[in-house]
Amino acid sequence: MSKLRHAGTAPLVIISMLLLCAARHSARSEEHALLAAKPARTSCQRAAFRVVVDVGHTVEVPGALSARGVPEYSFNLRLADEVTQALVDAGFDKTVRLITATAPWPGLVERAARANSMHADLFISIHHDSVPDYLIETWDYEGQQHQFSDRFEGYAIFISNDNADRKGSLEFGGLLGKELQARGLRYTSHYTLPVMGKHRHELVDADAGVYRYDQLMVLRQTRMPAVLLEAGSIVNRQEELQLASPDRRALVSAAVAAAVEHFCASHSRPSSDRHVKRPSSPIAATPSGHADSASLAR
Ligand SMILES: [Zn+2]
Repeated sequence: MSKLRHAGTAPLVIISMLLLCAARHSARSEEHALLAAKPARTSCQRAAFRVVVDVGHTVEVPGALSARGVPEYSFNLRLADEVTQALVDAGFDKTVRLITATAPWPGLVERAARANSMHADLFISIHHDSVPDYLIETWDYEGQQHQFSDRFEGYAIFISNDNADRKGSLEFGGLLGKELQARGLRYTSHYTLPVMGKHRHELVDADAGVYRYDQLMVLRQTRMPAVLLEAGSIVNRQEELQLASPDRRALVSAAVAAAVEHFCASHSRPSSDRHVKRPSSPIAATPSGHADSASLAR
């Protein structure tokens, strides 16, 4: 009885195995066809590409205050959390959200040093914008006096020509600006206006909204492509409400993830080749010349 049973099942097992092998082979062929159809994706090793998402400022030195009195740090933290999650969801598993409790200056040096020691491939510092003190007005909100300026709105991206990979920084800044604009956002051009005085900056990519700000510590001391994103103006009463909304955070996070995907795809070299040396050629001076310590603390 048992012998017969074995004799009867053996051919069935062999047939099942053959069918399984055939199914696997066909699935693998489909997989190969899919991979071949997406060359950009295969050239980007997402799981090996490390992005550092820097949360601008600290709990104790929280940056600007919004038009309704909310510290910039809390905007930065919430957005950086969502940007980090969007990157991990897109397969960039090595993404690190960087927070430091150390106040500037040591804190800024520490951020760059940590990104360098992690051998990050890309550094993105998340901030929200304000205006110089001389442009601030006051208003009453919920029985309290707050400071605001509705003059300017929109995002701004900064790069430093002192960064070790200024070409990569400019390239990523351009990609990020284009992805933000593809989602309906506009950059602020006020950094080019005379009213900004010493806070003026050279617009190095007028399509994408990328400015040059050589002195920013986290950009000049990092050895990988680095940008600082001002996601919008929290002293603008209308834009503050948008920036506080989940929709706007989702939109910016999606734009960052898409820009990182494009950037990673075009930088498929091994990471050991990616960290280039400081440029040796002289660079034209920025119109702002120098910046105040409050701005540098970004
Ligand atoms: Zn800031």
